This record gives sequence, C-alpha cells and structure tokens, in this order.
Amino acid sequence: MSKSVGEILQDSGIEQPGRKEQMEESVTDLITRIAEKAATQAAISAADKSVDKCNQFWQTKISGLSAAQGDAGYQDSTTPAAVTTSADDANTGEAAKSPKAKPTPGTTSSASAAEEACMQTASASARVGIRLEHGGPFGASIVRDGVIIACAHNMVLTNKDPTCHAEMTAIRQACKALGTHDLSDCQIYTTCEPCPMCWGAVHWARLNKAYIGVDRFTAAKYGFDDKVFYDEIDGKAGVYGCNIMKRHGFRKDSSTNAAGGAMNSERVEKNMVEIYDGILRKECEELFTNPAVNKTYRRRYLQNGTQPLHQAAIDAFPDAGVKRYMTLESTPDRSLAQHEQFMRLAVAAAERCAKNGMSKEREPFGAVIVKDGTVIATACNSVCYSRDSTATAEVSAIQAATVNLGTYNLEGCEIYTTSQPDVMSLGAILWSRISRAYCGVTQKFAAQYGFEEASLHFKDLLEDPGGKRLIEVVQGVAADECEAVFKEWSDLNGVIY
Ligand SMILES: [Zn+2]
Repeated sequence: MSKSVGEILQDSGIEQPGRKEQMEESVTDLITRIAEKAATQAAISAADKSVDKCNQFWQTKISGLSAAQGDAGYQDSTTPAAVTTSADDANTGEAAKSPKAKPTPGTTSSASAAEEACMQTASASARVGIRLEHGGPFGASIVRDGVIIACAHNMVLTNKDPTCHAEMTAIRQACKALGTHDLSDCQIYTTCEPCPMCWGAVHWARLNKAYIGVDRFTAAKYGFDDKVFYDEIDGKAGVYGCNIMKRHGFRKDSSTNAAGGAMNSERVEKNMVEIYDGILRKECEELFTNPAVNKTYRRRYLQNGTQPLHQAAIDAFPDAGVKRYMTLESTPDRSLAQHEQFMRLAVAAAERCAKNGMSKEREPFGAVIVKDGTVIATACNSVCYSRDSTATAEVSAIQAATVNLGTYNLEGCEIYTTSQPDVMSLGAILWSRISRAYCGVTQKFAAQYGFEEASLHFKDLLEDPGGKRLIEVVQGVAADECEAVFKEWSDLNGVIY
C-alpha cells in the first residue's frame, strides 16, 4: 500500500474547492476517479473505468492488506461473508503493527487494516463532498463481501434534501445497486456516529454491522452539536407530542466555525416540531383493520392463531398516544374539518398505493405535506416497490416537498401522516424543520397490527433492554482520518446548516 486514499485524493487535483462545474458529477464517478488514480499506482489499467473495476481495485487492495497482516478472514467476492474482520481478528493478527490499526482511546474496539481501508473510502467521499460544497463533512460506504457497493457523502446542500445524510445516501445507493431494500448481508462504514434518522435507516436496511470513525462529541467540536437532537429523540421518541419538541441550546445558524475561532456562541431555542394525534383516527385505523378498505394488505396479526401476538403488543407497549389532541383552539388558523380534509388525502394516498401494488405489506402508511394551506407533496410507503429501505411515506413526502420548494428547509410546512412516524421518519421530519406533524393512529396501534418496528425508540435501535448492542458496532475506525475531514471542512469555512 503506497498512499492513503486521502493522499491520493489530495494529489489528484480533480476536486478543488469552488470547481462548481464538477457539482453535477455523481459520487460514483468521483469515487471511480479516485480509485482510478490509485489503480494506476496499483498497475490496474487506467482504461478500465467501471464501478466494477473500482470495486475490484478495492477488493484487491483490501485483500492485499489482509494477506499482509495474516488475516485469513478475507477471500474473494464469490465467497459469502468474506470480510470477517472482527475486533478479535484485528487484535490477534498483525494488525496491531500497522500504525492505522491502533485502537482509538475510549472506543470499544479496534479495527483491522482492511476495515480501515473501507473507512478510508468513506472519508475520501466526505472530502470530495466538502470540496464540492455538497454538504457537511460526512461520508459513508456500504460493503458486502469485502466489496464496496456504495460510497457516498452528505448531499443535503446540493440536493436541497434534508434526508441526504451520508448514511441515507449510501443506503439508497446500495439498495439500488443490489436491487433490494434488504442489506442484511452488508456492513456500513460511516465517518461519524449516525444521527437518529440514520440509525433508523441502518435498522430498516437491516445492516448487520456498523463501523464508525468519530463520535458525535468530535462532531460537536466542529459545530455539529446534534447532541440536543439525540436527546430530544432519545427522550421523547415514544411519547412525543406530549411536549413541544425544541432544539434547546441549538447554536444560532452561523457560517463561522471552529477554525475561525469565532463560533457563534449565542444559543437559541427553536421549536422542533409539534405533534398532534388522532386526526381522522377512525379512517386511519381502518387502513389497518378493515379488509374492505384495504384488500391486499397481508395482515400479520389477528389471523391463524396470531391473536396472542396482537395481545402481546397491546400489553408490551405503553400507550405512546400523543396527549396533544387536536382541538379547535389548538390551531386557530385552520378548522378541524380542514385538518381532516388533509388527513383524508394521506389516507387516500395509502389506499391508492395499495391498489397500485406500490406498498405491498406496508399499505397503511400515507403522508401529505402542506404549506400555507396548499398540498405540496403526497407519498405512501414504497419500500418494497422502490426497493429502497428509506422510502417511508414521510421521508418520500419530505423529498418531494423539497423538490417542489427548491430548499432543504421546510420550516412552516406541516405533515399529515396516517401513523405516528418511526424514528427514521421522525428524524427526517426534525431535520427538515417541518413545524407541525398531524398523525392518525398511534405507534401502539400500529404495533397491534404487526408494525411493531415503528414503535422502536431511538434507544431500542441501539440496544436491547439488557444493554446489549443490537447492531454490532466498531468505533474509532480510521478516526484520525475521519476527524481530518472535519478539519478540512473548517478550513474551507464550511457552513453549518
Ligand atoms: Zn444522519
């Protein structure tokens, strides 16, 4: 191994700050070019420009690294689950001799050189992203059988889409590449600890392992103080709506950052989102319960002896019902009938998608986004149809709304959704700055009909009640390199958004 990806990228001269004409290039193209540059050194023909070649390069590179360190865990891509570079492998192999494989203090594990190499692709993509001003200093790669099948960075600014975090983008790319919403045989490498939305996406995609570069506290050093965001979701994911969610202590929007030493110290309190419950409850419930309304939905519970499961869900979940019931006084600018009219559109979206076979098992979910009394986006859950594990009704509606308005900021917009959102969708709602969410049925109700995933709180995504991690996590992978992306972003005077 001659140079790190970061060095290759720096030397390549293909991505200088301000080269706006390159903005349109896809991430895959960029990564391919990075790999090509490296591939030249690795004596792979520069004429081979395909993504396959890119992957092959990385595979060879990783394979070489693994062989060099005596790691027998890696084989070629025809062998399933080839990358078994667990923490134990790294500790028992010669990985410790590599300067890159040094465990970062305070982290739970150390990574092998192969894992570090995978993380390097994520940080390389992050560097590409900040130099092209696509978004924040975050990158993510998805790896299957040691082959990088997706590599992406934060694209919130360039796509004008608040859901385009690096992890979400990488997951979407991987779903597209593999033609499935199920990534259970894949791992994610992300340069920074995922936010709750992205953890939700990792969970939905069923990714089996997460490798993390730096944690949220490192991100906070550079102004990404999302900790309040975590706290909000963590504390209220199950009972949101009882309180107005606020971004307490959120830094005032600022273009200054850690590098300038002029971080805006003023703290402001922002309303995050107000959530109201029980709009058109009966109609929304019927999406789940009434076969005449929903003909094809495969009911997982309440048939063929699954009644105990139905009852178990009733017993297991505390009533997460939102206490903020809609009243005529609560939103004086709109009548209850008007709210119901919008919710009816969300119900209709769910029904329409069911009829068209877009939603399959996930038919009871529809969402509508309204601005100034006008519907600007309508969507249903299309996870199975679009083979995209992030395509919940709420997330798809947010994406459509941002396209419609041409901005990632949906402040002042309202979302009507037939069910209380899951953690990923709630995260997307918060990032989009939607001001109010109106829900039909509760999480508890959805759980009684087999949609128990939506009831998972943020904490539940990370660990079971015994405190055991549900998704295996390796922290501190190529942490220095991942933090260097933040530093470069600071030097480029990156904008906090
Ligand atoms: Zn995120």
